[in-house]
Amino acid sequence: MIDVEKVSYSYRSHLSGEIYMALNDISLTIGSGEYVAVVGRNGSGKSTLVKLLNGLLLPDSGRVAIDGVETTDSERIWDVRTRVGIVFQNPDNQIVASVVEEDVAFAPENQGLPREEIVRRVEESLKQVELYDLRERLTHELSGGQKQRLAIAGILAMRPQVLVLDESTAMLDPVGRAEVIATVEELHRREGLTVIHVTHCMEEAIRAGRIIVMDAGSVVFDGPVGELFSDAALVKECYLDMPALAHLSVMLRDGGLIIPDGLFTVEAMAQCLTR
Ligand code: ADP
Ligand code: MG
Repeated sequence: MIDVEKVSYSYRSHLSGEIYMALNDISLTIGSGEYVAVVGRNGSGKSTLVKLLNGLLLPDSGRVAIDGVETTDSERIWDVRTRVGIVFQNPDNQIVASVVEEDVAFAPENQGLPREEIVRRVEESLKQVELYDLRERLTHELSGGQKQRLAIAGILAMRPQVLVLDESTAMLDPVGRAEVIATVEELHRREGLTVIHVTHCMEEAIRAGRIIVMDAGSVVFDGPVGELFSDAALVKECYLDMPALAHLSVMLRDGGLIIPDGLFTVEAMAQCLTR
């Protein structure tokens, strides 16, 4: 369970000393096992928010707690870091070792786990992201999608509860994107991993159950994806694009065909059309 309570965060420019408020009094909770999309314009505070979730940044005011452990509790910061893993945008910046399996072993080695446990976790994590067959490959030979899956494996080796993707698909080609999304959805479904997916791609966001929209350091919408995307005016107000699937849903709805709220799946539409 993630608890963000009245959190504000400002950056201070080293040069001018100027202060820029990136998050302004944000409150939200994310329950265990949720799949949440976080969207919003550039500079709206999405990355700042996710960095606060695992203590990479600490709030100026308010509190962030993961399963009751506050990120400001310096004695338990590793608890927080291992519970909430973040995959960032650039696949090349997150790899530390030259061989795939060594990269996954890095975090558990730093945790000082026994050798057999490290070996077990590396094997398990690589299998979970379907990179086990490439375990002896050089990391620089991997595709973008494979690199992001490797970053996910590195996080899984710490046995996290929450996986955060901060625009982790943005630099990938369509194949890489699909690989990463499929991996994450499978982990969510099978292992009950909580997923927080920051994305610019509404086609990706629509796959989440809940969507949080940020603007200028505040949360401007937090609710079911169906509620947001069935309201074209609200989508526009939030400066978002309407996903094609949602667009089609709204058109079918307005044309008198009933689409169950929030079910923008191709299957749901097919059902309505064949009824
Ligand atoms: P997003 O991820 O939604 O694009 P960010 O959380 O990265 O937004 O940034 C929020 C605001 O904080 C932006 O206006 C950005 O310019 C500013 N900001 C982000 N990082 C820094 C930094 N290291 N120093 C100063 N300002 C920053
Ligand atoms: Mg960002």
